[in-house]
Amino acid sequence: MLVTFPHMGSAYVTLKALLEDLGVDVLVPPPCTKRTLELGTKYAPELACLPLKINIGNYIESLEKGADTIVMAGGCGPCRFGYYAEVQREILKDLGYRFEMVVLERPQGNVRDFIDRISLLTGGKSIFRVISAIKRATGVSIEMDNLERLGWEVRPREIKKGSASSLMKSFHSEVHGVKGTREINSLIRDYRRRMEQVETADEDILKIGIVGEIYTVIEPFVSIGIAEKLGDLGVEVDKSITLSYWIVNHLIKEALHMHDKREIEEAAKPYLKNFVGGHGQESIANTVIYKKKCYDGVIQLLPFTCMPEIVAQSILPRVSHDHDIPAMTLVLDEMTGEAGYLTRLEAFVDLIKRKKEMARDHEKKLLSRG
Ligand code: SF4
Repeated sequence: MLVTFPHMGSAYVTLKALLEDLGVDVLVPPPCTKRTLELGTKYAPELACLPLKINIGNYIESLEKGADTIVMAGGCGPCRFGYYAEVQREILKDLGYRFEMVVLERPQGNVRDFIDRISLLTGGKSIFRVISAIKRATGVSIEMDNLERLGWEVRPREIKKGSASSLMKSFHSEVHGVKGTREINSLIRDYRRRMEQVETADEDILKIGIVGEIYTVIEPFVSIGIAEKLGDLGVEVDKSITLSYWIVNHLIKEALHMHDKREIEEAAKPYLKNFVGGHGQESIANTVIYKKKCYDGVIQLLPFTCMPEIVAQSILPRVSHDHDIPAMTLVLDEMTGEAGYLTRLEAFVDLIKRKKEMARDHEKKLLSRG
């Protein structure tokens, strides 16, 4: 059995670590490229969600390389994620591929079923071994997110331009040569130390929060590397959703009925009281929360036709107005071109820079009068 899975940013590092600790042979799908997207666009229904199309491309590229088992997350709720796995399975079968698909549904109060499905992949490893591997892999996801977060902090401040990006690139090439949670964690820590040593200047940095649909927020291929692009424009970014956040809150705590959604629900309440699927409600809440944390702006990312984020998009201008925080929405699809995208990012950064300068000038005037 050679197991593969879809790509979503650095999530492959955690999945590789988990499966290797459980003694499973893993084939990490090739990174998402134009070809991946072309394959997905060719075989998926035209109006299917962009992540579904890219995942089809990931699977085809992995099956071509010899994978015979696909692990995919399942879902539920008002958006289309619930039937992703079934649609993908049928498309690949129609294309003549032979494979097994293991769908890991988010445990809705039935943790045992979730663990049993992982055991199935591992040839019946004990529940204790599976739980302990999940625990260690969660640790990897937290370490990995911390490394990326550090990169977002360093990039706009680095003296030698390109240092943070080149460290991350080198990490992603080296991680394929190490195995399991122990080795992977040690590599991440090594890169963390190296990232901390990058020489930086203490500059007045703009801060932008990224909200939106999880795949477009996490996978740099679809967001055309938004975190790096903003970093190069002198902006520190923060992503409201990361893999470790999703694992800890949406997977583990929700299954144990321990996910405390009060902060999100309270922040979104004046605008959106109900769950609308995906991360739509969180996009609204996190815009309010970013303002409270003194961020200078918010960018919402969503795939074309993403239902929960379209709801959030329609509310965002009001939230932006009420809380005096600039917000921009970027809709991504297979037609998104890099040049136009970059122009919009640059214009947004200019706008928030000017807004910040004007606020500072106004403050100075008031002080000089006083
Ligand atoms: S969250 Fe959006 S992109 Fe993701 S499955 Fe739902 S509708 Fe599609």
